[in-house]
Amino acid sequence: MTFRATCLTLFPEAFPGILGVSIVGTALRQGVWSLDTVDVREHGVGKHRNVDDTPSGGGAGMVMRADVAAAALDSVEQAGRPRIYLSPRGKPLRQARVRELAAGPGVILLCGRFEGLDERVIEARELEEISIGDFVLAGGEAAAQALLEACVRLLPGVAGNADSLAEESFETGLLEHPHYTRPQIWEDREIPTVLTSGDHAKIRAWRRNQAEELTKARRPDLYAASRDAPLPRAKPRD
Ligand code: SAH
Repeated sequence: MTFRATCLTLFPEAFPGILGVSIVGTALRQGVWSLDTVDVREHGVGKHRNVDDTPSGGGAGMVMRADVAAAALDSVEQAGRPRIYLSPRGKPLRQARVRELAAGPGVILLCGRFEGLDERVIEARELEEISIGDFVLAGGEAAAQALLEACVRLLPGVAGNADSLAEESFETGLLEHPHYTRPQIWEDREIPTVLTSGDHAKIRAWRRNQAEELTKARRPDLYAASRDAPLPRAKPRD
């Protein structure tokens, strides 16, 4: 089963962008997943293919028209895929949702521009609003690529080592422990001796402790949640 991504955008030339390189790009060329774009402008109205208009009630900027966005969405075969509008007002994207999306048939992503999108099309087409963080981008394309990159690296065969996926940040409910590699001493800094001891139980305990301390210091919210909830396990996709 191929994971199918369709991105609706005013800038199709922004794709595949980052999705064309490294393991995610290789997987695209191998057909592990597919990517197509819909140019929202082609669904614009009138001679000038207008896609936006001034905000009702006044104020700065322009708003993407509901009829135009709906026409672009309706031109795409849904095939069981969730329709997502990338938006700073959306639910913050978490690894758990990434895992669910990666286990499904794919996604349809609407990339906003300007001030945003007419609310009525969000309701009428039951778009799921997802944010990639508490900051404002100029458009949804970079957010769509971030979401897709997170999904595609979880597809079977894309990342070389399934163990590395299971152990990393968020998958265990904690941030990941620090990493080191040769040289043994660099600018007078030595790799923690436990890591070169060969004692695997000790190494595991050290890493677990580092992960806990780091999470406590940087993300008290995650740390508190990891105390309350049983550890989520990464589920392999069939
Ligand atoms: N006026 C809007 C911001 C519009 S930014 C507001 O204050 O909520 C223009 C477009 O960029 C949005 O329509 C959305 O598609 C995209 N975008 C901006 N920030 C984003 C974020 N943090 N996550 C996902 N998409 C974002």
